[in-house]
Amino acid sequence: MDYNEDHLITEYILKNYRHLLSGLEGRILHVIGHGRSDILETDAAKKKVERVWGHVGDEEIDAALADGIEVFKKRVRDRIINDYSKEVNLARCPKCKKLLRTPRSRQCRWCKCGWHLTIVR
Ligand SMILES: [Zn+2]
Repeated sequence: MDYNEDHLITEYILKNYRHLLSGLEGRILHVIGHGRSDILETDAAKKKVERVWGHVGDEEIDAALADGIEVFKKRVRDRIINDYSKEVNLARCPKCKKLLRTPRSRQCRWCKCGWHLTIVR
């Protein structure tokens, strides 16, 4: 797996800070989510969203997904990082400095370095 930090930060924020999503963001991500949204075309995602919710809120959904799913996810990520800069913790490996899976990870998925009682912030 390639280390694409931009993409990884998006996944990290959306996964670990799900409680900071707005109602609409959370609903859209819930429908298109499950880690496979990167392979869905925007039109397919919209159809899926519409199928699940009927036609309620189409304009909001259209606006949210107008630039594609990845852009939508990055916009949500940036909003959360900006709005909750004190709460969001991008935890990094103490050895290789790459992004960890979660703020509480005790092992690096990249260099396999592990640690237990040390919390690195
Ligand atoms: Zn590491």
